[in-house]
Amino acid sequence: MKVEVIKNILGENDKIAGENRNFFAGKKICVMNLMGSPGSGKTTLLEKTLGKISEKIKVAVIEGDLFTAKDAERIENHNVPVVQINTSGGCHLDAPMVKKALQNLDTENLDLIIVENVGNLVCPAEFDIGENFKTVVLSITEGDDKPLKYPLIFKESEIAVLNKIDLLPFTNFDLTAAREDLTTIHPGIKILETSCTKETGLDEFCNLILKKVSDVKS
Ligand code: MG
Ligand code: ZN
Repeated sequence: MKVEVIKNILGENDKIAGENRNFFAGKKICVMNLMGSPGSGKTTLLEKTLGKISEKIKVAVIEGDLFTAKDAERIENHNVPVVQINTSGGCHLDAPMVKKALQNLDTENLDLIIVENVGNLVCPAEFDIGENFKTVVLSITEGDDKPLKYPLIFKESEIAVLNKIDLLPFTNFDLTAAREDLTTIHPGIKILETSCTKETGLDEFCNLILKKVSDVKS
């Protein structure tokens, strides 16, 4: 019975995700679903990324958050259009929420929408929102065991960002083991090491995004 309900929820979600995907394709908008735990540094990474790419392409942001608009307010400071989705405690974004958010976004001439998902390593990976690709942010402080413990999100993501890499010397995070686990779970996954405080690895991340944007255009 429970399995049946979950199947129906995901089935309905996939239908709307397909509609979102068609909508984005029609407008040649690339969509990145940005996922990761609370505190992994998603919003800071997003701010740094916007600082580097918003002069080159037209970007908008959809901010998923449980209750607040704190992250959306941070993004607004970068003069980028942002739509807030409050899930009222819901632990992930789904395709209907994104579809609804699009009503409040001017999508004319947009090149890229970055969707910051709710901080969670579990169910955001289960819900297709119609994105082109997923990125997962894992902070060094979270521990190197996370890829094996939460394999789905790493399997689903095209890019894994190992963030706060500057903190590596202060932790027992085993970078070699984490990289091996990531590649075992998802052969071909692009693994980046970033630090938003030291400003390292950010250009590489931006270049991957810009490449995805140009792939959608062509
Ligand atoms: Mg955030
Ligand atoms: Zn959830």
